Amino acid sequence: MGKLYLTHLGGLNVYCCTKCRAHLANKEEIISKQFQGRSGKAYLFASVVNVCLGDPEDRVFNSGEYNVRDVICLACLSIIGWRYEKSYEETQAYKEGKYIVEKAKILKCK
Ligand SMILES: [Zn+2]
Repeated sequence: MGKLYLTHLGGLNVYCCTKCRAHLANKEEIISKQFQGRSGKAYLFASVVNVCLGDPEDRVFNSGEYNVRDVICLACLSIIGWRYEKSYEETQAYKEGKYIVEKAKILKCK
């Protein structure tokens, strides 16, 4: 594996990967904390950094069917959540391009 160049976020409210502590997002990017991930609570983020995306696939959630991609930490390759690519329900279209990150996969950087 080559050398990784990770983005370093500034400010006091940065969330990191629980496994490798790579910076993932600023608190200001949180749109909602009222989401459900695969294994519990999850946050909806407008944007995250230091991630790569899995292949697109259709998944059915409580709120409808979506085309999503897994969101993977670039530094340790943990799956931390998913990104909504396309909503098949018009009312849920605001989620498109946004990121769900499992609460258990992130923590506040110290
Ligand atoms: Zn990581």
